Amino acid sequence: MTTHTQETNVQEFERVWMEKAITLATTSVTNGGGPFGALVAKDGEVVAIGNNQVTATLDPVAHAEVSAMRAACKKLDTFSLEGCVLVTSCEPCPMCLSAALWARVDRVVYSADRHDAAVAGFDDRKFYDLFEKKPESMWPMSVAHLDLPNRTAPFEAWLAKPDRIDY
Ligand SMILES: [Zn+2]
Repeated sequence: MTTHTQETNVQEFERVWMEKAITLATTSVTNGGGPFGALVAKDGEVVAIGNNQVTATLDPVAHAEVSAMRAACKKLDTFSLEGCVLVTSCEPCPMCLSAALWARVDRVVYSADRHDAAVAGFDDRKFYDLFEKKPESMWPMSVAHLDLPNRTAPFEAWLAKPDRIDY
């Protein structure tokens, strides 16, 4: 029974964190970033947040997940995010998945998927096609899809922004 309660709490936490990540993604569009938001949490607390800043900082690797993991490492004063969860508004691209593996995060949770992103002009499906993904059972961290109703809100904000810089 205890296990079930803990499981429910984890899901509750992750829903709240995902709402925050989606809000970060939508706010990012308003502030000149890309429509992606992420956060790193540990022991039930948010450690750091991040949003996509590729065009804003002329940095092609400044994805939300990388930004959040960099900030989390600085805050925790470590290069390892063991024991942490990476919560991201959209399915991580292969670069961010690799970065999460290097950072040793325990778990990745995302809401919008690669197909939602493709509709908004972010087609990293082609990168996925370049890499043959191993079955998830062979991965050292779990990757979970948490489908919230507003998962595509950041992309809708992006497509509605007339002065966006496509990349
Ligand atoms: Zn990425």
